[in-house]
Amino acid sequence: MKAVRIHEFGGPEVLRYEDAPDPQLRKDQVLVRIRACAMNHLDIWVRKGLPGVKLPHILGSDVAGETVEVGEYVSGFQTGQRVLLAPMHFCNHCAKCVAGLQNQCREFTVLGNAVDGGNCELIAVPAVNVIPIPESSKLDFNQAASVPLVFLTAWHMLTGRAAIRPGQTVLVLGANSGVGIAGIQIAKFFQCRVITTAGDDNKMAKARELGADYVINHYQQKISEEVRRITNKEGVDIVLEHVGPATWDDSLRSLKPAGTLVTCGATTGPQVGIDLRFVYSRQLSILGSYMGTMGELHEVLKHVFSGRLKPIVDRTFTFAEARAAHEYMEKSRMFGKIVLNP
Ligand SMILES: [Zn+2]
Repeated sequence: MKAVRIHEFGGPEVLRYEDAPDPQLRKDQVLVRIRACAMNHLDIWVRKGLPGVKLPHILGSDVAGETVEVGEYVSGFQTGQRVLLAPMHFCNHCAKCVAGLQNQCREFTVLGNAVDGGNCELIAVPAVNVIPIPESSKLDFNQAASVPLVFLTAWHMLTGRAAIRPGQTVLVLGANSGVGIAGIQIAKFFQCRVITTAGDDNKMAKARELGADYVINHYQQKISEEVRRITNKEGVDIVLEHVGPATWDDSLRSLKPAGTLVTCGATTGPQVGIDLRFVYSRQLSILGSYMGTMGELHEVLKHVFSGRLKPIVDRTFTFAEARAAHEYMEKSRMFGKIVLNP
């Protein structure tokens, strides 16, 4: 098969579109022909080098496609079904996995991180990862591939970690990012007031279309000052953070007393400062969040398949154009997902 692989870590130039061995189907797996694989910032971190990545390596976490072969031990699937994949690897038999807490499994990793991903034509995955796209759903393959990682991540952050409640005020950073797009819609789904940030007029207008009540231009306005103004100096209940150092201080300052910051990423770098006096005197909660559970994935997909939550595709590239796609993502030009096609 054809695949986008890296043989060394580095810039977009290390991406190679080349022949790779077809996956060998185990008896407990399903073989899927990949029709679309959406990009995430994780692709860039993996390309630059993360511990646990074995070379050569196939990138890509978010897969939609069709089943082509079903392993002997698998029931409930036919060939030719439209499916998307749960973008994670877990052992499926430890105490955490059987309790439904797959993202606490010791073997847990994201598809395309410590295991080969979906920037290729064929992938073999355990049946538990394979989720049929209902016939009633209007999603095409590019839209379906744009859902799993970011909608699961945002759902787990807001419901599983920050315990969102109707009527709260939520600050979602980076309206144009996949997690931002999912976070805005999920917070509105819970009847919350949503403040978000974007970098230009076009992105600000799109954020409003998604349902954001207030949009801050993070290049022209100071986020925490605008949040204070919008909330009448009260601050927000929850900050959905994934940016890191560029927004961290503003994120903490935007919280009301006993507010919750939940973070799933570090797009602008891993190190931030914390004034402990500020954290304890304002009784803040700072929570980490990593992907989510299979139960949460099925839960959020129900709302996506019914059309209440919508993925946004920015543009598509072919696998052969993966380098251009990475360069495009690194310039943050997108509003929504960048999707690669065979
Ligand atoms: Zn496990």
